[in-house]
Amino acid sequence: MMDQPLLISELIRHAERYHADTEIVSRLPDAGGAIHRSNWGEVARRSRQVANALSALGLGPQAMVGTLAWNTHRHLELYYGVSGSQRVLHTINPRLFPEQICWIINHAEDAVVFFDVTFASLVDGLVAGGCPTVKHWVALTSADKLPAMKHVQPLAYEELVSAASADYSWPSFDEREAGSLCYTSGTTGNPKGVLYSHRSTVLHAYGTCMPDVMGLSARDVVLPVVPMFHVNAWGIPYSAAAIGAKLVMPGAGLDGPSLYELFESEKVSFSAGVPTVWLGLLQHLQKNNLHFSRPWNSIVGGSACPPALMRAYRDGYGVKIRHAWGMSEMSPLGTVCTLKEKHLKLSAEEQFAIELKQGRPVFGVDMRIVDQNGQPLPHDGKAFGDLQVRGPWVVQRYFKLDKDPLQDGWFPTGDVGTIDPDGYLQITDRSKDVIKSGGEWISSIDLENVAVAHPAVQEAAVIGVHHPKWDERPLLVVVRKPGAELGAAELIAHFEGKIAKWWTPDDVVFVEEIPHTATGKISKLQLRQQYKDYQLPTA
Ligand code: ADP
Repeated sequence: MMDQPLLISELIRHAERYHADTEIVSRLPDAGGAIHRSNWGEVARRSRQVANALSALGLGPQAMVGTLAWNTHRHLELYYGVSGSQRVLHTINPRLFPEQICWIINHAEDAVVFFDVTFASLVDGLVAGGCPTVKHWVALTSADKLPAMKHVQPLAYEELVSAASADYSWPSFDEREAGSLCYTSGTTGNPKGVLYSHRSTVLHAYGTCMPDVMGLSARDVVLPVVPMFHVNAWGIPYSAAAIGAKLVMPGAGLDGPSLYELFESEKVSFSAGVPTVWLGLLQHLQKNNLHFSRPWNSIVGGSACPPALMRAYRDGYGVKIRHAWGMSEMSPLGTVCTLKEKHLKLSAEEQFAIELKQGRPVFGVDMRIVDQNGQPLPHDGKAFGDLQVRGPWVVQRYFKLDKDPLQDGWFPTGDVGTIDPDGYLQITDRSKDVIKSGGEWISSIDLENVAVAHPAVQEAAVIGVHHPKWDERPLLVVVRKPGAELGAAELIAHFEGKIAKWWTPDDVVFVEEIPHTATGKISKLQLRQQYKDYQLPTA
């Protein structure tokens, strides 16, 4: 068989040859969200111009190129122009603290950073904070729209691209070379970098397109709400090129009204995002009595999706939200929840109970659960233990860190869960978040799911707080829906019959807001700090 390397440039080459006129639609962050229309042919041509422009800026192979950017056609051009030309695309999460961003840029040694104009003041601060390796800052706009900045005179992306020739041959090299870099959000300690290879990226793209994974095809219109700075938008920029799907890029408009408008105007058939995004869209739908003219499917991941949210989309809007689980260290896809043939005879509610789990592993990912001594536990759907994974798109070692994170060749995910005999994974917690009550474990996710199913609850988080007898007991922190009335006793009563009695939260606190991390997850770390001296009524 031919020994042809699996390179990211092969994806764009394919999309250009066979899907050139398939549209790439973007909301422009530098034009107030105005719609821009491009296609795979144009994206391919401009990504070759990007490759030449990077050479003109003096960047050699393996040079690091940072981006602080929304999902747009320009960011897509960088995905291919940078990685395809043997440089490394480093996507940076703009929601991190500026000090963290500065640390990441310095650690990665980015030579150039491309940024959307909405991040101009952030970039000004970064330059003032000191990013000595960055030689050029490039604003993703045209010269006439360059933002006025105090500490740096940025280049204009459109000028850079149009000055470069589109005549460029994608180089061939070892598929094990790095193509892109992402840092985990680093809720504890410094962020850690995961360096994806061309090989892992292309294999992951094949994996994600499969029917029981994202099931993407050339008939799909795909709207990735998950940002391209969050684990490569779960690989969608690559898988969409592999199968020639139309892409709809939401730019900075991730709120309910902006998303709804795009779903309708572009007839979106597939989307992907974290639960908070689907919650925002749902509130907009309910408030304005709206519906979709084309049914769509979605995967939801990043944190556990409350059953109430999945049910609301299924029953009210005919939208199928499939649960998926993964992490930066896994490129990110690990499992997706779809049924097996034998489940088709079950009732709708029995099927739904399965669909609430995080799902079965994609071919390319193997998983197991182990006890505290690293001994494998049975896949019986009851035993819960530390989840470990392995496969060709799972991290082997963090970028520039010597310590080997693997245990017996498996990567410890830091998640705790069960695996049932059919291979379905259910995450019960992050290992840091499980509540250890009297030597037994209580799942905070299960309790949160019950809480958010109450009609007056907008958001809920459960943390373990110190208890003199039980070591830890669950405390429920709740944001009420606007205008809703709800007391602690009523909410506690709502748990009755839904969980083991001894799991019932010991107390409830109502707050205006729950803190979130840069990737939109509930920050349990901050909550635990906030309530570390909390006196439970049961203590
Ligand atoms: P980080 O937030 O650490 O930077 P990721 O964004 O890669 O990293 O998040 C990975 C973690 O998110 C997983 O280890 C898991 O704890 C959580 N997670 C992801 N998907 C799900 C899901 N469907 N259900 C529950 N937890 C999830």
